Amino acid sequence: MTPTLADIKDAARRIAGRISRTDMALSPSLTERMGLPVHLKLESRQTTGSFKLRGASNAIAQLSATARGKGVVTASTGNHGRALAYAAKLEGIRAVICMSSLVPANKLAEIERLGAEIRIVGDSQDDAQEEAERLARESGLSMVPPFDDPHVIAGQGTLGLEMIEAVPDATTVLVQLSGGGLAAGIATAVKALNPDTRVIGISMARGAAMKASIDAGHPVNVTELPTLADSLGGGIGLDNRLTFSICRNLLDDIVLLSESEIAAGIRHLYAVEREIAEGAGAVGVAALLAGKINAQGPIVTLVSGRNIDMTLHRKIVDGDATEFERLDTQRNGRAA
Ligand SMILES: *Cc1c(COP(=O)(O)O)cnc(C)c1O
Repeated sequence: MTPTLADIKDAARRIAGRISRTDMALSPSLTERMGLPVHLKLESRQTTGSFKLRGASNAIAQLSATARGKGVVTASTGNHGRALAYAAKLEGIRAVICMSSLVPANKLAEIERLGAEIRIVGDSQDDAQEEAERLARESGLSMVPPFDDPHVIAGQGTLGLEMIEAVPDATTVLVQLSGGGLAAGIATAVKALNPDTRVIGISMARGAAMKASIDAGHPVNVTELPTLADSLGGGIGLDNRLTFSICRNLLDDIVLLSESEIAAGIRHLYAVEREIAEGAGAVGVAALLAGKINAQGPIVTLVSGRNIDMTLHRKIVDGDATEFERLDTQRNGRAA
């Protein structure tokens, strides 16, 4: 069940015609700041605006003819739903996307535009997940989970292959960490190719489910809170099958960031690198800027997505404190 390097290489062949191989760009400014080469893997430029198309495409490519006839269903904070909707449309397959009311309007509109059926349920990722499971049981739709699935993990892992191919001497790889499909896939590929390369997971301090679970020694629920890194929200599932153990075994460290640190990452990517990133996409760069990463050699930082509300983005790059940054200083015991 646990995906291997061979599964990830198979996934790379399977999805080659369906996704873009995104650029790896050296960042002169971050290189100067760190005193080490810093490379940005610009997966924010992937079709649909995030890496989620890799896992979704790999999962859809392996459905039987019968399953294709019935369609796919998932629960998603936005980017996985959008990727699955896109991949399904490409193959003429029905897609039903369940999400919570926390999903930003721009992400919802994008999915609707792709012709998928949308169900808004509850106010947490867990509520959306329950609805997707019910539809899978009752309507025979195939569930394509956002992270805890071997095909999805293998698809996301193709990023690890591209990273090591482009920067074979990478000593440290910075990867966004939420449900852990991305980190599990990348760490599996990177560690198999270069066992000494460190893979560090980055989450927001407000509701980092995988970090809390690894600290507890088993999957735990965390309260889902508003954050600039909305794509990193949600739990890992109390019945997590794969990503919890893979992340616990393979990640060398997990770094947590405040809302102002995440905002600084978005601002730097725009003003200096000339890239648009959403909060989740910017956390690797943000961790470097915050001085929270120690490395001995070349660093690869993933920019995982760009699907941010542009009004919010403008506010951040203009240097206006957002409602999220004010949350950093709240003293209600829930803020970072
Ligand atoms: C989904 C997502 C992540 C986190 O991926 P997981 O597999 O859930 O850990 C990070 N960044 C973006 C932009 C995402 O859409």
